[in-house]
Amino acid sequence: MERRFSMIKVLVNGACGRMGSEVVRTLEVEKDLQLIAAVDPQHAGGNLGMLTRTNYKDIPIYKNLNEALTICVPDVVIDFTTPSIIKESAKTVISKGIHMVIGTTGLTVEDREELSNMVDITGSHVLIAPNFSLGAVLLIKVSAEIAKYMPNTEIIELHHNHKYDAPSGTAKLTAEKIAEARILTAEKDNTKESLIGARGGKYHDITIHSVRLPGYVAHQEVLFGGHGETLTIKHDSLDRKSFMPGVMLAVKNIFKHPGLVYGLENYLE
Ligand code: NAD
Repeated sequence: MERRFSMIKVLVNGACGRMGSEVVRTLEVEKDLQLIAAVDPQHAGGNLGMLTRTNYKDIPIYKNLNEALTICVPDVVIDFTTPSIIKESAKTVISKGIHMVIGTTGLTVEDREELSNMVDITGSHVLIAPNFSLGAVLLIKVSAEIAKYMPNTEIIELHHNHKYDAPSGTAKLTAEKIAEARILTAEKDNTKESLIGARGGKYHDITIHSVRLPGYVAHQEVLFGGHGETLTIKHDSLDRKSFMPGVMLAVKNIFKHPGLVYGLENYLE
């Protein structure tokens, strides 16, 4: 779908959650983006202005996407909801040929393939980004580069204790990119766990450790081990504001990126 309007009309799905309300607050100061509707079943019919501490008191909050999309036609849907419903939400939006920026984690490789096939038919542009923070995107890029020379690596990701899924989508994307980039074979360790889970979980043959504690927002360390040396790179999102420049960049540029794109790094090149 080509962009035909100077203002981009946006609907936020999950608008009253931690990320959704940050998106709503950011949209308020964006000149080219116009919030036209919100969806959040917990607050349907409520006052979006009060709930998000913005002046959006007249923007309706619908109880679900189907209801919202029969009443209004956004150019782009931004989604920060929950892993259990993201696939159905994406199908609803894509079936209408509307563009979608997905921050919600939990979509599997198979889900992405299925959605990509749908996108090819309906013409929606979709970006799925496990992490919208520019620092985290750079951490993934740099990790893949280091892994060419230092193949022995493990990931530690640390998040707040209300996060639904583990490991994080960022850790999984990092592991995928490292696995793609590795040329040399990593050394195996022969450790026997005396406590199940002590060595973390494997994804693309890379060990990921997930920490969940109050106080954290979103943090990740990638540790590389060599002969007599280690190299650690670390990224910290200290505030949900860290994700907003990436989300806004995605919404403004989605018109230039047809198909289903996985990872914000594809919008930075
Ligand atoms: P949250 O629980 O604070 O918010 C989720 C919101 O979705 C809630 O307000 C809830 O009422 C709403 N919701 C539930 N069911 C819904 C439905 N059927 N339709 C519409 N809304 C519905 O969660 P959060 O911390 O805002 O995180 C949301 C998602 O974003 C998670 O998957 C999280 O991992 C992910 N996340 C991604 C990034 C990124 O950069 N990509 C960053 C942070 C969080």
